[in-house]
Amino acid sequence: MTTWQPSNAPVPDGEIIIERGSTAKDVGPKVNRSAADIIRFLFLQGEIVTAVQGLSDDMIELYAAEVGATVRLVDPGEQQEAALLAKFFDEDDQDDEIPAVPRPPVVTVMGHVDHGKTLLLDKIRKTNVIAGEAGGITQHIGAYQVKWKGKTLAFLDTPGHEAFTAMRARGAMVTDVVILVVAADDGVMPQTVEAINHAKAANVPLIVAVNKMDKADANPDRILQQISEYGLVPEKWGGDTIVVEISALQGTGIDELLEQVLLVAEIGELVARPTGRAVGSVLEANLEVGRGPVATVMVQKGLLSVGDPVVAGAAFGKVKALINDQGKQIKTAGPSTPVQILGFSEPPFAGDEMRVAHDLAHARSLAEARAQRARLIGHQPVASTSGARLEDLFEQIQRGETATLNVVLKADVQGSLEACTESLRKLERDDVKLVLVHRGVGGITENDVQLAKASNATIIGFNVRPDKRSRELAEAEGVEVPTYEIIYKLIEEIEAAMLGLLSPVFEEVVTGEAEVREVFRVPKIGAIAGCFVRDGVITRGSKVRFLREGTIIWKGSITSLRRFKDDAREVQAGFECGIGLSDYQDLKDGDIIETFEEREIPRTA
Ligand code: GDP
Repeated sequence: MTTWQPSNAPVPDGEIIIERGSTAKDVGPKVNRSAADIIRFLFLQGEIVTAVQGLSDDMIELYAAEVGATVRLVDPGEQQEAALLAKFFDEDDQDDEIPAVPRPPVVTVMGHVDHGKTLLLDKIRKTNVIAGEAGGITQHIGAYQVKWKGKTLAFLDTPGHEAFTAMRARGAMVTDVVILVVAADDGVMPQTVEAINHAKAANVPLIVAVNKMDKADANPDRILQQISEYGLVPEKWGGDTIVVEISALQGTGIDELLEQVLLVAEIGELVARPTGRAVGSVLEANLEVGRGPVATVMVQKGLLSVGDPVVAGAAFGKVKALINDQGKQIKTAGPSTPVQILGFSEPPFAGDEMRVAHDLAHARSLAEARAQRARLIGHQPVASTSGARLEDLFEQIQRGETATLNVVLKADVQGSLEACTESLRKLERDDVKLVLVHRGVGGITENDVQLAKASNATIIGFNVRPDKRSRELAEAEGVEVPTYEIIYKLIEEIEAAMLGLLSPVFEEVVTGEAEVREVFRVPKIGAIAGCFVRDGVITRGSKVRFLREGTIIWKGSITSLRRFKDDAREVQAGFECGIGLSDYQDLKDGDIIETFEEREIPRTA
């Protein structure tokens, strides 16, 4: 430490911008203090850091409070990105001077599971399909438009709250009206309440559709009573909540429902400029074989055209093709039109804003600034976020520490990624925090394993699996890779882990060890390894792994075991034997064959 400022030197006035993960060496000069001063202060608070170690947000804020500085923490690269956005997309933007015209409303259907959201969405969609029309085949792209009595409405066809919340969490406001479906035979349920809260929080008008009116035990009055308790007083009781009784199954009441949606939309005076550079929100995106990155975007203003240079999150490109909800290629898409975009460099994220740039270079530089920022955030080793893997989590909790679960999350499509993220976030408690080290769409790769290893994380896969090489790497590196196909299973298990209630784990117990002395090729049988048993017992049929210089090179089982010319069931330490290798043929002298058993070890809870 070369300079030493007296600790009562004045701190700079006004807001001091500090990047997250800055070191004591970075922060010191900004608040007119030395790195040593910060380190000493933190030491007195019980935190031991070095001058070049990234500090946590808490540490920076604590120190700022100590010296009376006003700091604003920003993500690394945030400032540059904001500057680029202003330069390329706002400052010279004449587009917003184009007069706005009415646009169709965008509707999201929410409600409890099994209350009929999907059926309702299907029914509404079919009102649009002209009987016998060729190309009446619709394609699920995450949203669709219908024409009804000369008016157009757009529907997000991913019912469920996760998507809605995830979008909102990322700042995307795509929904103008929420239809809350409540089954008349079931009533207000937990997810109904959740939906009400979501709509309220987003300040989006809500229409209640009392569904399943065809059922004998339908009790609409009870529903009115129940929703009133949540502040939704029906019109017929003098409130202002619109309630429509429907049967998604029989198709009754749907006309009235759509009429009410349009009425509510009219009150909202929804307008957007129909031309100029388009702006929209990414609804979902994934990587498709043969098509590359495909993103469904809801255009919110302007006109999106084939050939436009676009940017969404860290993805950019020239629009190669636009495909509508009928699966048809179109040339342009205006406000409230959902459309699939082909031509992105990579799949963007649901909730990302999509913008048309002046030219590809602008789109690229903004995308690259964002990618850079994401990298900086993702790879910053920050002091005191020494999170744990799933299997160590409970130990941390038991020690009474605030436990942190580090997760690398991979999922098949953007929508499920967002849904898993949201659901995992909900599991956070005061004593158990979640750190998403990395999230992404696609299979579990060796990179994911490396990252998980480096950051002491567990990889969670949803509808994706590791390929052989990453699985082997994970095994070799001791990285856990639980995979799931059902979201509630995922939630259930992670929650159980947090409570220390995981099902029993199996531990591998090594039972024998043999050293390969020579490998023989025997016609029709394959390779036989001549071995010397160094330890324990080698038993036929037991599981084995082959180690070369301490690294596992293969795992499998023993097919044949011989002692001299005879088959043997087991061979003890100190003897020689021949081990038949089923499909692994590449053993060398000096390799170790290790046999093991799996035994259940009870969890200490
Ligand atoms: P979601 O989970 O809210 O999307 O519910 P679904 O649309 O999958 O519907 C759940 C079940 O309720 C399905 O078996 C539907 O056929 C049934 N269902 C939906 N709407 C109605 C309705 O109006 N009347 C009757 N009787 N059954 C319905």
